[in-house]
Amino acid sequence: MTLEEMESLMESIGQPKYRAAQLFNWIYKRAILSFDEMTNFAKSLRQQLDNMADIGYISIEKQVTSTDEQTTKFLFKLKDGLCVESVFMIDGKRRTVCLSSQVGCALRCSFCATGKMGFQRNLSAGEIVDQLLAIQRALNVEATNIVIMGMGEPFLNYDEVIKACDIISHDKGIAIGKRKITISTSGLVPAIKRFADDGQRYQLAISLNAADDEIRNKLMPINKKYPLNELINAARYYAAKSRHRITFEYVMIGGINDRIEDALKLAKLIKGWKCKINIIPYNAIDEKQDPPSEETMSAFIRPFLKLNVVISVRRSKGVDINAACGQLYYKHKENNFILEVDK
Ligand code: SF4
Repeated sequence: MTLEEMESLMESIGQPKYRAAQLFNWIYKRAILSFDEMTNFAKSLRQQLDNMADIGYISIEKQVTSTDEQTTKFLFKLKDGLCVESVFMIDGKRRTVCLSSQVGCALRCSFCATGKMGFQRNLSAGEIVDQLLAIQRALNVEATNIVIMGMGEPFLNYDEVIKACDIISHDKGIAIGKRKITISTSGLVPAIKRFADDGQRYQLAISLNAADDEIRNKLMPINKKYPLNELINAARYYAAKSRHRITFEYVMIGGINDRIEDALKLAKLIKGWKCKINIIPYNAIDEKQDPPSEETMSAFIRPFLKLNVVISVRRSKGVDINAACGQLYYKHKENNFILEVDK
């Protein structure tokens, strides 16, 4: 529930508006698990709320921390028995949580373990926020940054994802600034335009991964529906409207999109544009595709050094714990763990 929804709830039982702000604080800031913990509410009100509403929470099915202790991956079980993954990452002062937006994904990108699961269902805003609350509770930490980059395509679940981000950024609750929340899309053109038209202040990242249609079609079937020129036009439209620096994610796969000619095409595509490129070395999920070598990565980034772009190589965090999107679920399933227990 948003604060406005809690205000309606409180109003419906004759309670003043400030009670909703208190409730919002208890649920999201203090992350309580039962109405009984709300000590500044009369017992009768707590009981009334308990009869009307439910503080849902997801349970931790599996939790694995990398050997360098910088990354912890969670496999959560939802109320219907399905599972999703989230990751907590430490990088200097940053405490980033990567959240899932769907169970599985329909878009079947070739480099992604989640894509191999197919689509099962959208997550509710509550289930998205709950991943964050559960991680903060389990590790006794406060996240500083959020990326909606876990399982699923967030823009295929637009309303619930935006609602979750609105709850996470609200200053009476978790209060993570809108500029610290990034939504990553595989390139759904109409949704990018909607995001721009809605004036959303969250950061946008686009998973680009290739600078020509031929390669992008192979890596990301969604490109057949929204080819590169349409995607780039939508990204420019968003950048002009929002005045935000857009981020392009580039999962680099050995021998596929890591050649110098790919770098030159990419440099041409973004020339004159204030943007950021994140190179992500492929985290192997099978033997069909390989990570790039260190030398290839260094050669690839050279053409960008003269341009007005920020380019970074995101070292794959948590390789030893299968931390890339969908990998833990995938491995878990391969090992015949029963994930969908309550079906
Ligand atoms: S990379 Fe994202 S959009 Fe592509 S299959 Fe994986 S979860 Fe879906």
